[in-house]
Amino acid sequence: MSENCIFCKIGRGEIPAKKVYEDDDFVAFHDINPAAPVHLLLIPRRHIASMQDVTPEDAGWLGRMMAMAPRLAAENGCNPGPQGGFRIVVNSGAEGGQEVPHLHFHIIGGSRPWAGRA
Ligand code: 5GP
Ligand code: ZN
Repeated sequence: MSENCIFCKIGRGEIPAKKVYEDDDFVAFHDINPAAPVHLLLIPRRHIASMQDVTPEDAGWLGRMMAMAPRLAAENGCNPGPQGGFRIVVNSGAEGGQEVPHLHFHIIGGSRPWAGRA
């Protein structure tokens, strides 16, 4: 837990978010500034700053987090099948474009927001 971290605060319910899923370990909610028709953020409740801090010991919960993404995408409006789909984006560190230093997966879909991106 990190006292002043905005995503820790969302996890603790101290600031509002449009949550779509939560369990003991994870919370998913709508991005406040969506880049596409579907733009969710999936976070671990436990504070970890970025993928730069992940170690092999994190494989278990990180695997569960990754496996959660397709279900959240499907339940929140991403289109099914090979003509639909979604992106998982994990910005990491300043040069990786990360602005909120609490690890999060962007789950982005409902259109073709990948156009022009890596
Ligand atoms: P990053 O650049 O760190 O990968 O992405 C941070 C994301 O968090 C951005 O897409 C931004 O719109 C979103 N965001 C920042 N502050 C808040 C907030 O207070 N609530 C919600 N729901 N999203 C936020
Ligand atoms: Zn945090």
